[in-house]
Parts: sequence; C-alpha cells; structure tokens
Amino acid sequence: MEPTISVSARGEERIRNGHLWVYQADVARARTEPGAVVRVVGAGGRFLARAFFSDRSQITLRILTHLDVPIDRRFWRSRLEQAFAFRQRLGIDATAYRLVHGEGDLIPSLVVDRYGDYLVVQALSQGTDRLLPEITELLVELGRPKGILARNDPRVRLLEGLEQSVAVLHGVVPDTTTVREGRIEYDVDMRHGQKTGAFLDQRENRQAAAQYVSGRTLDCFSYAGGFALQLARHVDELHALDISEDAAAMLTRNAARNGISNIEVRTTNVFDELRTLDRTGKRFDAVVLDPPAFAKSKAAIPKALSGYKEINLRALKLLNAGGFLITCSCSYHVNEAAFGEVIFDAALDAGVEVSVVEKRMQGRDHPVVLGMPETYYLKCFILRKLG
Ligand code: SAH
Repeated sequence: MEPTISVSARGEERIRNGHLWVYQADVARARTEPGAVVRVVGAGGRFLARAFFSDRSQITLRILTHLDVPIDRRFWRSRLEQAFAFRQRLGIDATAYRLVHGEGDLIPSLVVDRYGDYLVVQALSQGTDRLLPEITELLVELGRPKGILARNDPRVRLLEGLEQSVAVLHGVVPDTTTVREGRIEYDVDMRHGQKTGAFLDQRENRQAAAQYVSGRTLDCFSYAGGFALQLARHVDELHALDISEDAAAMLTRNAARNGISNIEVRTTNVFDELRTLDRTGKRFDAVVLDPPAFAKSKAAIPKALSGYKEINLRALKLLNAGGFLITCSCSYHVNEAAFGEVIFDAALDAGVEVSVVEKRMQGRDHPVVLGMPETYYLKCFILRKLG
C-alpha cells in the first residue's frame, strides 16, 4: 500500500496556493520511510498531491505533482526530458549551465549542472537522495555524459540527516574541466569549487552587464572571474577583488588562457578596499558587486542589510557620473523589495541620484516558481549614476 499522509487545512491551502513545500506543523503525524514518495490527502481523505516525505527536515513534504499519477521511472524520465528540452529552447551560448533546478523543474531538491561532457548532481533531500541511482541511470540515458559527479557536500543535507559526500556516480570525472561561456573559456574545479564548481546563475547577468561597462571597471567578489573575464574586452582596465587566494589564482590562470591582459587581480577584503579606493580618490566607470549570500538565515537579515548598504554606498561613491552599478544579492531571505530599499538608502546616504536600468534575476536555466518566493533568490539590479 502506498503511504498516505494527511495535511491540515493550512497545509491544504498552501498546496492549493501553488506552494511546493509543506512544513512539519501542517502535517499529521506520519510514519513512513525517509525519502518515500507519499500520497498527500486533505480533509476527508481527498487526494491533493504526491510528494517526497522527509522525517527530519522542517520541510516534511515536497510536492511532485498535483495529478493522481504514478511516480515511476516514466514519470522521472518525462520530468528530466522536459528540463533538458527547456534548456535547448533557451539557445544557451555556453557549455556550462544548469540542466535541472529543483523546484523550478518540478524535481524538488535535485540540482544537475552540465560542465561540457560532465554532469554534477546534488541531492538535497531524503527524497532525491534515495532516488539518486535511478536519476543517474536516466541522466546517462538522456545526456550521455562521460562522467557524473555527486557534489553532495552542501550543509543543507545535514538538516535531512544525510551525510556530506563527494562521489563519482558514473564514468570517470577529472578534478577540473574546461568550459566555454560565450567567447571565454575557463577551468572549473568540479570537486572543490564553490557550489558545483561555478556560479552559473549569473551567466545572463554577465552578458547584460557587458553592454554597460567601459573605461575603468571594478569587479568586487570576483571568484574565478565570472564577470571579470566576460567584461574585460569591453573596458580599458578591469580591477578584480576577492578575499580568496585560490579564487585570485584561478582568475589569473583563466585570464592568461583567454589572452586577456587588462585584468588586475587583488586578494583583499572588499569592505576595506572600497573604503581605501574612495579615500585615495579612485573613480570607476562601472562597478560590479556580487557578494556571497550575506543572509543565510532569517536571524541574519538585519546584519546582511547593513552589509549590502555599506558596499552599495561605497560603490555608488566610486562611480563617475553616468557610470553603471551592477549590484546583486543571492540571499533569498532578502527579497527584491528589501534589496531595492537598501540600495535606495545607500544612494540617499551617498547623496547621489540613481536610475534603474534593469532589474534582473537568476538566469533562465534557474527557473523561479510563481507562488514560491523562496525560489527567487538572485536579484541583479543594473543602475546608472546620474548627474
Ligand atoms: N562573481 C563571481 C561569484 C562570486 S561568489 C562569479 O560570477 O563567478 C562570492 C565571492 O566572494 C567568493 O569568491 C568569496 O571568496 C568572495 N568573498 C567573500 N567575502 C569577501 C570579502 N569580504 N571580500 C572579498 N571577497 C569576498
């Protein structure tokens, strides 16, 4: 018998409102195996959905479908085929991109990134962890990769009672591979790099930013050069800042590989460096701010907001009139409205007038689910300093 779990009236309402997560408090006490696919019912035993069950996470149910259909190999194959077909449709001019973005592809808590011939997967709940062997087989069938690596080391797995591990699931996977994004080639360290190796969610924002940069441009929180490498050929000088020596070394190597000689990389704390640059009268025609998530939890929001305000205020001061600020936040706890307010506060304090050129999100290969604000995590505003 298929395990059945009933949800409270509030849980039912959440599901009806398009949300794909049901929290513990809205689920009747349930006994079934961790990671099982369950039938979700409302009052009177009415069928609502099928979902992954977790016996550890606050998120007890992750909805897979609202239809009363079996969750079998055909189901997963079809979901993966749809995810693959959507990326085809996007006409992505890169060999590295996200193939499956969890909830955004109705495969909750599964991430699959493509780096050329290799796939890197993350199973972020008991449900996808349990399903991983089957998913791997389907990915081999559909994507014919040379190798598949599980980067199952994110901390969120601990909330599910899952161990952190990195393992080859199929074929052979080298430590690094070379991928192309537009005209730029860069190395990705799939085993040790941040996230699954690169920040693929910014690909389209990097393209957009390229339209506005010129002269002297500053790339803050540069990592391996996601922005810097794409922007370099549009500017005279590109100054890249990152606190990590490893990141700076990767950026330097990537610049050399592409024959780029106008990037100056500095290993430093952006907060300090922005202040120093201002004090010494340095000015720029464009500034990129792509910090790590300052708000990793709700409790961290106030401190995160002051961090965002600080760097945006400094960056606005450093800009020449007519210059552009490309400013990002990947904290989903800080929503678009809150981020907009922080930037406005920063502009007021800096005493500058600013217009909004573009309001952007994570790339289209990282789809946002309507009705699920948690899935809209990356904001990228492109602003112009007036005056
Ligand atoms: N812009 C990059 C991704 C940035 S990730 C891209 O498009 O690929 C955030 C980066 O910020 C990381 O490389 C991290 O090392 C760096 N970082 C974190 N705190 C920092 C600080 N205070 N000063 C400088 N760099 C910092």
